[in-house]
Amino acid sequence: MKKLLVTGGSGLVGKAIENISSEYNYDFFLISSKDCNLLDYKETEDLFEKYKPNYVIHLAAYVGGLYKNMNYKVDMYEKNITINNIVLKCCHKYNVEKVISCLSTCIFPDKTEYPINENILHNGPPHNSNDAYAYSKRMLEVLSKAYQEQYNSNFICVIPTNIYGPNDNYSLEDGHVIPSLIHRCYNNKKNNEKFIVRGSGKPLRQFIYSEDLAKLIMWTLEKYNEKDNLILSVNECEEVSIEHIARCIAKSFNYENNIVFDTSYSDGQYKKTADNGKLMNLIKKYNFINIDNGINKTVDWFIKNYDNCRK
Ligand code: NAP
Ligand code: GDP
Repeated sequence: MKKLLVTGGSGLVGKAIENISSEYNYDFFLISSKDCNLLDYKETEDLFEKYKPNYVIHLAAYVGGLYKNMNYKVDMYEKNITINNIVLKCCHKYNVEKVISCLSTCIFPDKTEYPINENILHNGPPHNSNDAYAYSKRMLEVLSKAYQEQYNSNFICVIPTNIYGPNDNYSLEDGHVIPSLIHRCYNNKKNNEKFIVRGSGKPLRQFIYSEDLAKLIMWTLEKYNEKDNLILSVNECEEVSIEHIARCIAKSFNYENNIVFDTSYSDGQYKKTADNGKLMNLIKKYNFINIDNGINKTVDWFIKNYDNCRK
């Protein structure tokens, strides 16, 4: 059986891949920072020596929401650049047949025409709020292409839109909008307080449920035979406002009519509407989990796993 190493195996996307892994015919090795610190070349080389994987899905990253991106720019840049350089170097050294690395739609140019597509990644600077993270991820793309050109490696990149689901980081300060708001609404309801949503609520986002993304990454591994970047996103018509997300979360907690928008916080980029046309042309049909259902499932998971989840 072919061996598939998944870095970031303990994270939001890694856990979603673990949950569907029994449907696929690979020996899965899902690793976290406890198994191997990917910032350390020697440890990472030992990991590759131990598993000698045929394929790698490279998810591990130093990642977080808007406010983490704004507050930890040096870490965002340095850690991601280091992890990515080390992981791809080891993939090359150990002749990995295919590597799928994860970029993000939030690394695209800030001032651009919409919808964004795979071809415009480098056509202008990213939004100032997450530029350090964005440039580190753009360099992952540059490095993957460099391996393709210098060594004919099959090192490719997928570009997911905003992701959410079980096993996310529900940190109030560092998390992405959905997990942070779920945790905050939970606390606010418990303490009978207003439900505080940061920013104006007006920015627009597309959200993909982690299980859908996991299936699409596995589809990319097995069926996508090109080397160019591929956006993995829900359709454009599924773009929603942060206000919609907040109302959906409040409804799920049965805590509507308590929402307050704290506009002293940054809104970040207004939108980053992505075109999933390339994916849909190849895959033909995919029924994405609808955002309202996905949020209900995620809130249920959070309540059940409150004591032990990342927060
Ligand atoms: P996540 O939940 O924060 O998980 C991050 C993973 O990386 C964890 O498994 C973590 O291990 C691992 N990791 C971090 N530093 C490490 C180190 N030094 N050594 C080894 N492992 C390390 O992230 P995610 O949301 O699943 O994101 C997966 C990928 O999708 C990332 O590349 C991210 O940039 C990209 N992405 C995410 C989003 C989103 O909305 N979440 C959107 C677009 C793209 P520990 O658990 O041991 O710390
Ligand atoms: P982004 O899509 O990369 O900008 O990342 P986020 O998932 O952090 O979403 C940021 C958007 O959600 C911004 O418009 C924020 O103002 C809004 N938002 C509202 N409340 C929160 C919160 O508690 N945490 C985060 N991260 N964003 C919030």
